[in-house]
Amino acid sequence: MNENFKCQRCGNCCLHHGGALFLTEGEVRKWRKLVVSSNFGRFSAIRFASVFAVGTADIFFHPRTSEELDRCPFLRKLPKKNIYKCLIQDSKPLFCKQYPFEPNGEIRKDATDFCPEAKRILRGTSK
Ligand code: SF4
Ligand code: SF4
Repeated sequence: MNENFKCQRCGNCCLHHGGALFLTEGEVRKWRKLVVSSNFGRFSAIRFASVFAVGTADIFFHPRTSEELDRCPFLRKLPKKNIYKCLIQDSKPLFCKQYPFEPNGEIRKDATDFCPEAKRILRGTSK
């Protein structure tokens, strides 16, 4: 993680990538356990397609219509603020934890389209 990085919690990354996260095999196993055993249960309205997919995939589906959701169900907007939070902060995928960086520490190319912090760091500006 770049030490200059300070997430603005604008939610753009989750809104952009949230329906198609990258999950490792270990994360798929962990999420499947959490879904049946813990407070993930309150999201039982969501059928996790992690059963089907490891890797980049559309992973959230509506339980009744089976339509793909285009945003992550764990994203919440704070009331009356333009700030978002992740409801599964401790269990979120590594992909989310690293964002907007690649595993090698470079800024992801697609992040510069919508992540204000990625843009700021690339410009080399302070806040
Ligand atoms: S788009 Fe960038 S600044 Fe906004 S929430 Fe995501 S990581 Fe943070
Ligand atoms: S798991 Fe959390 S950080 Fe990842 S897309 Fe969903 S709300 Fe965003």
